[in-house]
Amino acid sequence: MSRRRVGIMGGTFDPIHHGHLVAASEVQAWFDLDEVVFVPTGQPWQKADRDVSPAEDRYLMTVIATAANPRFNVSRVDIDRGGPTYTIDTLRDLTALHPGADLYFITGADAIAALLTWRNHEELFGLAHFVGVTRPGHEMDDTTLKGLPEDRITIVEIPALAISSTDCRQRVARDEPVWYLVPDGVVQYIGKHDLYRLPPTTEDPSS
Ligand code: ATP
Ligand code: MG
Repeated sequence: MSRRRVGIMGGTFDPIHHGHLVAASEVQAWFDLDEVVFVPTGQPWQKADRDVSPAEDRYLMTVIATAANPRFNVSRVDIDRGGPTYTIDTLRDLTALHPGADLYFITGADAIAALLTWRNHEELFGLAHFVGVTRPGHEMDDTTLKGLPEDRITIVEIPALAISSTDCRQRVARDEPVWYLVPDGVVQYIGKHDLYRLPPTTEDPSS
């Protein structure tokens, strides 16, 4: 029996959009993966450069977006561990949950460029095969992969979708549509829970 192949799509997913879903679907088909597990990151203790939406909202939007695909699943490992997420912990946890499986960690061109700076990057390559997907605005060249083990990384060209969560959040804040950038259920979830709206400006009672 051949070994099970499991893709891992890590992300903040604030919100999940069609760029994430196309990346996961393309890599699933390319490597004939049995499943792709989406892993929303945990909530950072300290604010980084912005407030990240609550983990439960990001988790639920990821579930909504992936529910119809029988090969897509969502894991809470990074959320339930708490604190900032390090990919090494994600891979250790998923290795334990999928004993004997080959893991394929999927990341966009922007994230693969930062790989060498990641915590325990040498151990990372022992735990998973890395798949870098192309992303508009983040070109990869020979220097991107310099110093990384060639046999543990594959670059996969995917249909270019110039969509980012940052742009989706800004659109909602400006009252612009995100229809067709994110799945319909995610548009509705954002509206229902009033995500990404700018906080109302408090009026100065003295004026
Ligand atoms: P933000 O703007 O908040 O950083 P994002 O759109 O980059 O959001 P993330 O949750 O940061 O989304 O990304 C999760 C993973 O998906 C990363 O590896 C990222 O490179 C990849 N990714 C995101 N958008 C795309 C896209 N349009 N095409 C290919 N890969 C993408
Ligand atoms: Mg990002």
